[in-house]
Amino acid sequence: MIAISACLIGDNVRYDGSNKLNTELKSLVEQGKAISICPEVLGGLLTPREAAEIVGGDGRDVWQGTAKVITKTGEDVTEAFKSGAQFALEILNEQGCTGVILKSKSPSCGLSEIYDGSFSGQLKQGKGVSASLFKQQGITLANEFNWKGKFEV
Ligand code: SF4
Repeated sequence: MIAISACLIGDNVRYDGSNKLNTELKSLVEQGKAISICPEVLGGLLTPREAAEIVGGDGRDVWQGTAKVITKTGEDVTEAFKSGAQFALEILNEQGCTGVILKSKSPSCGLSEIYDGSFSGQLKQGKGVSASLFKQQGITLANEFNWKGKFEV
């Protein structure tokens, strides 16, 4: 079993209430080969919600306490992002998921690039908060562009 970011299978859970439907990934869920997760919703955040970015580092730095997740108007939502990631990890473990396909560039799900914290559309290298936790736990990670061949699905 694998898990997929819920916005990629068409759930309207993105910060602006939209989704990033990928029909191939949605069919994996429909066939029972994958489950969907949205760490930000699991962390208790509402949809729609304010855009948030990681300031002062990336997801790994958030777990080390040296970076924070801040909304565009300055609200600190770090704890919601962390608790959502931990909740998502519990679900992955309960469901026996060994891999996750995550939405690129998200402050939660981004794998290799995330927005740089300036809300100007600029990217920086690094992982999101959930991607970083999943990586630490030895879960195989991919995004919507590079997942083929990484999993037995
Ligand atoms: Fe939820 Fe991750 Fe999609 Fe953001 S990128 S809406 S946290 S599943």
